[in-house]
Amino acid sequence: MAGSGSAQERLNRTVGLIAEGLKADVCSCYVLRAGEVLELFATKGLLDSAVHATRLRVGEGLVGLIAAQARPMAFADAQNHPSFVFRPETGEEIYHSLMGVPILRGGRVIGVLVVQNKTSRAYTDEEIETLETVAMVQAELVAGGLVPKEEQIAIDGNALLPLRIEGVRLNAGIAIGQAFIHRSQISVQRLVAEDSESELPRFKEALSSLHSQLDALLNSADMEAGGEHRDVIETYRMFAQDAGWIGRIAEAIQGGLTAEAAVQKVHDDTRARMSQVSDPYIRERLLDFEDLANRLIQHLSGRAGVALNLPDDTILIARTLGPAELLDYDRKKLKGLVLEEGSPTMHAAIIARALEIPVIGRAEGVLTRIEPMDQVIVDGDSNQIFVRPGEDIVTAFRGTALLRAERIRSYAAEKDLPTVTIDGTEVNLFVNAGLLADLKFLESSGALGVGLYRTEIPFMARHELPDVETQTQIYGKIYEMAQGKPVVFRTLDVGGDKVLPYWNGAPEENPAMGWRSIRITLDRPAVLRQQLRALIRAAQGRDLSIMFPMIADVSEMDKARDLLDRELARECARGAPKPMRLRVGTMLEVPALAFQLDALLERVDFISVGSNDLVQFLFASDRGNPRLSDRYDTLAPSVLVFLKRLVEACRNRNVTLSLCGEMGGQPIDAMALIGIGFRNLSMQVPAIGPVRRMVRSLDLGALEAYLAGLLTRPDRSLRLQLKAYARDHGVDIG
Ligand code: PEP
Ligand code: MG
Repeated sequence: MAGSGSAQERLNRTVGLIAEGLKADVCSCYVLRAGEVLELFATKGLLDSAVHATRLRVGEGLVGLIAAQARPMAFADAQNHPSFVFRPETGEEIYHSLMGVPILRGGRVIGVLVVQNKTSRAYTDEEIETLETVAMVQAELVAGGLVPKEEQIAIDGNALLPLRIEGVRLNAGIAIGQAFIHRSQISVQRLVAEDSESELPRFKEALSSLHSQLDALLNSADMEAGGEHRDVIETYRMFAQDAGWIGRIAEAIQGGLTAEAAVQKVHDDTRARMSQVSDPYIRERLLDFEDLANRLIQHLSGRAGVALNLPDDTILIARTLGPAELLDYDRKKLKGLVLEEGSPTMHAAIIARALEIPVIGRAEGVLTRIEPMDQVIVDGDSNQIFVRPGEDIVTAFRGTALLRAERIRSYAAEKDLPTVTIDGTEVNLFVNAGLLADLKFLESSGALGVGLYRTEIPFMARHELPDVETQTQIYGKIYEMAQGKPVVFRTLDVGGDKVLPYWNGAPEENPAMGWRSIRITLDRPAVLRQQLRALIRAAQGRDLSIMFPMIADVSEMDKARDLLDRELARECARGAPKPMRLRVGTMLEVPALAFQLDALLERVDFISVGSNDLVQFLFASDRGNPRLSDRYDTLAPSVLVFLKRLVEACRNRNVTLSLCGEMGGQPIDAMALIGIGFRNLSMQVPAIGPVRRMVRSLDLGALEAYLAGLLTRPDRSLRLQLKAYARDHGVDIG
């Protein structure tokens, strides 16, 4: 259809052919230009003088609406639609009906194709579909040279200059390498099937080879049972068997498209719909479908499994990435990942964490601003990337990366040294874990055990609530990996910023203070009981420590404890061995609980301070609000006084107290906590080494004496004083 000549000439010809084919009086093609503007590029039926003159913003008029919503629309009476805008220069007032479809490429709207008729007429579904198919051809024309490449560069005037782009950390760490642009989009050459009979069998064959490939991936050596890796790919394989998805593709093939074009069409529809969906879980699942579509096209084109020519130090740049796509890349070469989209719960981010690859997400415009082989620094520690950085920046980061590696090595060498202060006080360090990957480093960190196992993390990596058996397996795996070291299992702590994909809670004004954590599980006791049952079963008679999160008053603790007792009785009656030692505790995250300590301490074996939540509630200061991030400090006298009282109460009643929020992993904060009496701290794995080193260089007696006079000060924070103290007294705070 395209024929020869310049892209513009071909476009002019095509609009004529479409108008003729669809018996329309007008056919126009609008192309998206820099600045979110749709420009009339070619028309049959409107005034020629309007071409390259008529421009609409995305969202303006019916054409703008189609682009904004990325879906086809048809209007029998277009002129009376509230979004209709009148453009006299086009001479369009005599056309009553309008049908338009977005021109999509790679899931992005790059233009709009419109037909209009003088009479008021309803367009049929078939006509809409035809126009959509034609728009796929237009997409190649529009993207393939119609808009000058300079324009894309003009969008970002500094395209070839060094850039720093901020994003969101999806995994920490530093990586330096060359950009490899992930192109999931394989352009489909043949759209309409010459022999439609053979397309369906081709599709089925490709589908079955896709299924076998996923099975092989699942059976590969590094897919540990119970691992998040495996869950993600299992979910993904389930999607690959989704009858709705397969059915839609088969339908499109029956409508005359080639198998590739049908996959592409269903994929484009999904992608366009996705731009309308704000629910992060649904968006992520749609991403899995996108990944599958690309993979299926590879199978259809015989390009599945073809090795990519990757730079030795690859920084992968992608709009987004499916979990299996990430695993396709050679792990030895893959050093970092940068995504235009992405969220911490996306499957690829979970896998990247397990593979220890630094990841920055929501890095705006990276696909247009980074060229293949550009040098890129991923700074996962400071939420940024550097593109084409100057030599000085590269040198600085190489230094930082080396230092980081060196420090990690030197901490590892100290793992067996006792965590004891100079004056002989022992401090117990534990790790916070959620992914199996965290457990892998338990041994090499030298930590005593897991002080906080966040059970919600494996829940978040799944597509549905794991049943008792699955949970038993997960917790069993944790026991196994902990190799006899103690683990504190915290019951499901979801809500707030931790969204469980399959639980559609109503949006809340104030999620941090909303229906979350123990509030949910006490309102849904079956969920909590199942989890407790799985924990008892997984313990197989070994010690079991259970911790309830977000307890705000003692009655909640009693209710949770009652459910635990009932589950224990039930399991024992069924012959399960009783845990050798059962320890039950609570997080202290809600200040009110600290005012019921007498009653609380009678009931619990241990308390763990969740300082992330506690501090935000103490100051009534949202921990996620950047405008408040520097306003209050964890080392405020009020926080330390509050915690010191807690230490004393727990000591008097012989109840173990620990702290498992982020502050425990900051050497300077940890120093203050030890100074006020904490002896148990739980933190992220990488913090263990630095905190141990701090403890070993600390004279606790001297610090206690210094702190005694400090806590009554009116200061906003004691951080400066404590830092000065550390410096002057040779305490290694890194
Ligand atoms: C906390 O609030 O300090 C805590 C450890 O829990 P989370 O960060 O999982 O909310
Ligand atoms: Mg918390």
